[in-house]
Amino acid sequence: MSSEPYLLTPGPLTTSLRTRQAMLRDWGSWDVDFNTITGRIRERLLQIVSASATHECVPLQGSGTFSVEAAIGTLVPRNGHVLVPQNGAYCQRIARICRVLGRRLTTLDYAENTQVLASDIERALAADASITHVALVHCETSTGILNPLEEIAQVVARQGRGLIVDAMSSFGALEIDARRTPFDAVVAASGKCLEGPPGMGFVIARRAQLERSEGNSHSLAMDLYDQWMYMQKTTQWRYTPPTHVVAAFDTAIAQYLEEGGREARHARYALNCQTLIEGMARLGLRSFLPAAIQAPIIVTFYAPDTPRYAFKSFYEAVKSRGYILYPGKLTAVETFRVGCIGQLGARGIAGAVEAVGQVLAEMRAAA
Ligand SMILES: *Cc1c(COP(=O)(O)O)cnc(C)c1O
Repeated sequence: MSSEPYLLTPGPLTTSLRTRQAMLRDWGSWDVDFNTITGRIRERLLQIVSASATHECVPLQGSGTFSVEAAIGTLVPRNGHVLVPQNGAYCQRIARICRVLGRRLTTLDYAENTQVLASDIERALAADASITHVALVHCETSTGILNPLEEIAQVVARQGRGLIVDAMSSFGALEIDARRTPFDAVVAASGKCLEGPPGMGFVIARRAQLERSEGNSHSLAMDLYDQWMYMQKTTQWRYTPPTHVVAAFDTAIAQYLEEGGREARHARYALNCQTLIEGMARLGLRSFLPAAIQAPIIVTFYAPDTPRYAFKSFYEAVKSRGYILYPGKLTAVETFRVGCIGQLGARGIAGAVEAVGQVLAEMRAAA
């Protein structure tokens, strides 16, 4: 068994050897070759969501949450009011960001196995004219549920409010097209469906909104307006960029395009997801969500129904067979999660199911 296991986790995830090899050289942040890479990444990220004509791509150092916080802090004015529909932990994180930043907040609460409804959003916006923005999580990674972005975007646009989308775990795999789906900002990061290493996020922000956002941010380092202006003027990152991550992300995007772009990536993940759910069902493990609302990104499974089960020992036993699983994030039921994304290779999902089967057999025999 290789000492390096497959990561069946939704970022960091398993990257290709070529992506990792791109980190084996140093870059100067002032160097024109490095800044050419930054420019290419920004342009390609806009193209992935067909937003080159209308939006700007502003990259930001840090994990994905840094970019979500920066988007809210920069694009929502200090006297703005954010509606956050909540059906999972990442929605709750956005609500928490609004509280910490002192932006007025209203939440709309759902059970974790229930999609956000566009009609509820429409009613909430119609009832409260002070709401300036809706902040939506596209794929709620805490369960794997898909929220209906397209319908919600239409409702928000019709009501004349702004939409900020946390598309962290969907960008590059699930379709987002700025020509058809109106949004003020889509936020994602290097280490998810584009299969780069973690370390930088980016915000695809509507140019007209970004231009108007000067002075909104409560923070210097997290000010996307300032980051954007500096990058437009100098082609450089405002403060030290994560150079190795940027170079590897560029290589990962090149491989994404070689593979066939979004449709090919989606097809690969959808097959992974189907193989996973069918394989686990054969082992008697049920998934938490019905297929119709399951995104092909990460799957939540009910914990095995055996008295010997504990996530930690299950995790360790599966890890020793070469696969890293992910703990569940639900409060009421015992679950675990398996990611469908990353460079898993031919053996990836089937091998993981086989490893889980072996561990289950041992647990059941010992029970
Ligand atoms: C991964 C992820 C984030 C960002 O999490 P970080 O730990 O900051 O990288 C935000 N939202 C969603 C939906 C995610 O999947």
